[in-house]
Amino acid sequence: MARRSDTVFLPFRLGEGYPGAVPVIRSDRRTIALELKHDGMILVRAPRFTDDAKIRAFLAEREGWLRAHLAKQEAEAGEEPERLTREEIDALFREAAADLPARVRRLAPAVGVTYGRITIRNQKTRWGSCTSGGNLNFNCLLMLAPEAARDYVVIHELCHRLEMNHSPRFWAEVARVCPDYRTQRKWFREHGRALLKSMFG
Ligand SMILES: [Zn+2]
Repeated sequence: MARRSDTVFLPFRLGEGYPGAVPVIRSDRRTIALELKHDGMILVRAPRFTDDAKIRAFLAEREGWLRAHLAKQEAEAGEEPERLTREEIDALFREAAADLPARVRRLAPAVGVTYGRITIRNQKTRWGSCTSGGNLNFNCLLMLAPEAARDYVVIHELCHRLEMNHSPRFWAEVARVCPDYRTQRKWFREHGRALLKSMFG
């Protein structure tokens, strides 16, 4: 028999224009998790005996990420995206600096190339680039893209180590490592502009 779960509203100020409390559902689970609903609602699921302070700390740690995701949802809903704050952009940089190099390390052997330095930037127009010397640059806003789309950008830039152009040979290399690359490119065509706008207004 399933035990009931309890929902309480935990006061938490996410920022101007957001609700001042976050619903927390405590149930028989083992970890704290954050759910972001399509309508922009945030929900926390937590083990039954987690105290409020722990949940507040959990939320505070993810505040930059959360606000950035909410901005993205607004952008996707066709609303004028709210510009990300300095704090949100800093949070994305930190996440990107951990996530993207690990992704490059994982995917470079699949592409079969080496690479140089990895730099995270907040570029206005590009998601990534690759220099002739093999240095890779990535946009920190990639952290707001789905993981598969992020992988695609990494693979795309790594494939420039083989072909410094967008020739059919280049796309054949991309397709070899990322067979669904067309889906990922479509994601950027549909959402990319709104995301870039959220950073630069
Ligand atoms: Zn390219």
